[in-house]
Amino acid sequence: MTNCLYCNTPLSRHEQFAGTICGNWRCREKFLENQLAGYRREAAQALDLAQAETFPIAVVPYWEPKLVPLAPEDRQLLADFLHGLIVSEFSEGVSSELMLDSSQPDSPDMTAQLGLVCAVCQGFCCFHGAANNAFLDHKTLMRFVTEKQGLELCEVVSIYLDYLPKEHCHNACLYQGEQGCVLPREMRADICNNYQCGGLRTARERFATSADNRAFVVVRHDHKILRSAFINGPSILHYPPKA
Ligand code: SF4
Ligand code: SF4
Repeated sequence: MTNCLYCNTPLSRHEQFAGTICGNWRCREKFLENQLAGYRREAAQALDLAQAETFPIAVVPYWEPKLVPLAPEDRQLLADFLHGLIVSEFSEGVSSELMLDSSQPDSPDMTAQLGLVCAVCQGFCCFHGAANNAFLDHKTLMRFVTEKQGLELCEVVSIYLDYLPKEHCHNACLYQGEQGCVLPREMRADICNNYQCGGLRTARERFATSADNRAFVVVRHDHKILRSAFINGPSILHYPPKA
């Protein structure tokens, strides 16, 4: 009989077939922690980086964006949607479950550090922008108009359309270009400026409490680690190294 590596409980036939741990979430969590720490050690050795354990692990979602040309019909659909917004006094906006955070704006340094984490992920959360018209709503357009003195609401649609990139990430928000979002921050919906996945929150906590601005960002999908990067202040070291 085989027992669980962590709690020593006898494993069922199914658990034995799947590996060396039982189905208890604590054992699964421990297994994942050890797997991630082992991967961090391996990556640090391969990159000749000392003190791997000083880089806290932040797991982010998998996303492999592919650029496609902006289709005229997609542009037209967005134009129709924006025209609809400016004539509506009220818009429902985004589902509250996606509005995870609405804290104060970050300092430029913090924004830059968090941008490095999102760059490793390559913008998974902007995938949701496809089905939500970049999360734009009446309130966002009004805020933009109010901040830009002299701008008329009727001019807003063409300004937003002018920012569309020639190529965007397939199946994602039309504003997700090769280097990420092409909309200036003041034109983005609140959720775009405030959303944080779990991995980004982990990294933020570290950046907020430590001057070294370190993190080990891991892209994990379907129980497998696919790629990673050490963030060390403004520098970033990918593992496996990028071609
Ligand atoms: S918030 Fe999370 S999911 Fe979104 S781009 Fe950043 S790391 Fe990726
Ligand atoms: S507007 Fe920008 S930040 Fe918002 S979903 Fe689209 S690409 Fe992402």
